[in-house]
Amino acid sequence: MTTLVHPAAGARIGPNAIIQVACVLRDRLGKAFADRLLRDTTPYTCDALPHEMVDESEARAVVQGLVDRVGERAALGVLREAGARTADYLLANRIPQVAQALIRLAPRRLGLRWLLAAMRANAWTFAGSGEFRVTQTDADATLTFERCAMCTGMHAAQPMCDFYAGTFERLIRVLVTPGARVREEECLATGGSVCRFRVRLSGPA
Ligand SMILES: [Zn+2]
Repeated sequence: MTTLVHPAAGARIGPNAIIQVACVLRDRLGKAFADRLLRDTTPYTCDALPHEMVDESEARAVVQGLVDRVGERAALGVLREAGARTADYLLANRIPQVAQALIRLAPRRLGLRWLLAAMRANAWTFAGSGEFRVTQTDADATLTFERCAMCTGMHAAQPMCDFYAGTFERLIRVLVTPGARVREEECLATGGSVCRFRVRLSGPA
């Protein structure tokens, strides 16, 4: 008898995927709502949030529980803000200030190249079982997950990985150019073959 083990089993991602979603929910919908959702889907509560990397399936369970309770559209708003707050945490605590200064001072396409290289080097902290790829052209950049820690197994009417889009967009806006936009154009949750994000830098170079 053969036992099939999904390669994603046990893959881990940074705890911000749960912490920041919980904090946005607490701020928008109240602590009771946030606690109930966390208790129904994870071992955590607002007063006992994870400090170490978490099993990515826990982050997915929070997202699915959120969608079930408030619908896709409202969930996307929460996820995008949670992503932006994650970026703020990374800027304050994880990305060296010297590196931030260098990226800010560089011409923006070069700055974006450096930032994307740093993101690729640190993909183990957020990609989990996903495989993160970066493609940069003169005009923009494309970020792709071949498998996605945040939406694998989900079925949705619209792309659902705004936690990632929100994180990427805030990092690029703060470090490269404030007019940048990041949008998920293809998503595994809607039947896509990958999760693919388009980065657009607006205005002259
Ligand atoms: Zn997706």
